[in-house]
Parts: sequence; structure tokens; C-alpha cells
Amino acid sequence: MTTTVPCPNCDRALDVLLGETVCSVCVSDLRRLLEGVASERVPAPLVTVRTADGSLVQRRAIDGGRLVPGLAMALEAAIRGELRHGTSVRSGSVVDARLPLVATAVYQRDELVRTLASAAAAVASARGLDRPERRLVPLAAWWLQHLAGLQYRDDGPALVQQMSTALRSARAVLEHRLDRRVFRGRCDAVTESGEACGGALYVVPPAATVTCPLCGTEYPADERRLALLRAARASLVTATEAARALQGLGVAVEPATIRKWVQRDLLHPRAHTPAPGNKPLYRLGDVEQLVRRAAVPAALRHAAIRPRSPGA
Ligand SMILES: [Zn+2]
Ligand SMILES: [Zn+2]
Repeated sequence: MTTTVPCPNCDRALDVLLGETVCSVCVSDLRRLLEGVASERVPAPLVTVRTADGSLVQRRAIDGGRLVPGLAMALEAAIRGELRHGTSVRSGSVVDARLPLVATAVYQRDELVRTLASAAAAVASARGLDRPERRLVPLAAWWLQHLAGLQYRDDGPALVQQMSTALRSARAVLEHRLDRRVFRGRCDAVTESGEACGGALYVVPPAATVTCPLCGTEYPADERRLALLRAARASLVTATEAARALQGLGVAVEPATIRKWVQRDLLHPRAHTPAPGNKPLYRLGDVEQLVRRAAVPAALRHAAIRPRSPGA
């Protein structure tokens, strides 16, 4: 008598004799997602060109190829505000329209790093391996080397699911550039199995509510926006990234202003990007506080110079 044990993640039959805990299809799906993290250099094709004397020669473009951006590079571009979900909202302010993508990209990148790193830590300590650096590209490279054993671990199904979900969510941030939807986080309604629903919430501004496509729970859109902001406040970002993200709070701040605060010893970096970049990273919430503090005296000065004229 043979019994079939289904893969907990996709219901395909597991190879029980091998001791599989999660199926090879789920693992190879994860492999493909991980392969999309690093950027890839595609060699330039040979082109035929006519020289000054009229003869034809074959050559390659001087830069030797074209860079196809991976997930990590595309997320960084989104964080710098270079990618958007589409045209800015006509009725709302452009400033406000820009924020959700930046905050979402920061949030998704941090979530992805956290998920890949904690899964790597679990496997590394069990197998006596060195842990990878906590950055997307090295994390993905580490996992591509160590995926094989995952299929036989008790926590294999959970780790495969968590990493695949985090990778897909991060990609989702970049994949809706042509429509007007903006991401409002994940549904946190609790399902019958006791787990969070996790449906991706998208809203078309200026709609006031956003409905989960999986379970139908309705949320006030602005509440979700503020929740995303709160999540982003803990993020470590460069001065440029901080300026971009804070524009959505309606308080514009230039990267140069942030650097000035650093020179005046008002703001301190919490970390640095890895060498050779060594860029200082600031907590978004720290910067936000300074922006708000700086805005108060300016507003008071403004009020003193031009008091509200009565009745006119
Ligand atoms: Zn499976
Ligand atoms: Zn839901």
C-alpha cells in the first residue's frame, strides 16, 4: 500500500522515500525568484559597421553589454523615486502621490532582507555554515548555493513559502507601473487557520477605502497609508532616500538640508552602507522629527511677519 503525502505549499505529491518535506517544483520556483535578484550583464551583440574607407567590419559596442536590472537594483531605483506606479493623481498633490511607492519599496526591501537573512541564519546554524551579509544580492547568492538541503528540512515548507512570498511581494511593488493603483500594505485579517490573510491591498486614489482581493476585508485607505509610513519610519535610508520618502508627509526636505543637520550634529547616522560605498544611513523617523521641528519656527516667523489680516 502506498500513501501519497502532498506538498504543504502546493499539494503536489512528495517523494516520501527521499524524505522530502516540500516538493521540487516549489523549490525551483524559489530558485527562479532568487535568480532574479542580482542584475545581469547581457553581452552586446556583434554589429556590422561600415568604416571610412567603405569596408564592412564587425564589432561590439564599446561598453561590452547591457545591464539588465535585477530585483535588488530595481527596488533601489524605486526607493530613489525613479519608478512610479503611473501618472500622478490629477486631483491630489504630486507630492502625496509620490510617497506610497517609495515607502513601499523601502518597506518591501527591508522585509525581504529580514526574511532571507533569518531563514539563512536558521540553516547556517544547523549546518555550521557562514552567514551571508545582510544585503539582497549576497543573500540571494548564498541561498542559490544552499537551496538543495531545504527540501528535506522540517521547516523547509515554511522557509520556502516565506522567502517566495517576500520575493513576490517585492516584485509586486515594481510591477504596477502602468496603472494608477498604489500599494497600501498587506491584509492583516486573521483567517480560519489562524494565519494572517496577507492579501496585497491596492487602492486607486482618491478612493477612500481599499478592499482585500482575497478575503474582502475593507480598510480606510488613509489609515493604511499611515501604517505604511509608520513601518517606513524605522527604515535606514540615505539622505536622498529620506528626502524622497518624506515628501509624502507634505513637508519637503532636500537631501542637502539633511546633510547640513549632520554637520551641525543634530542628526547621527545609525549605520553605513557596506564598503566601498560607506554611505551614512539615517533612521527615517529621526529625519522626519527634525523636519517637523524645523517647520515650526519657520511657520511662527511667517505668522509674525504677515499676521492674518482680519476680514480681508
Ligand atoms: Zn510544492
Ligand atoms: Zn484579506
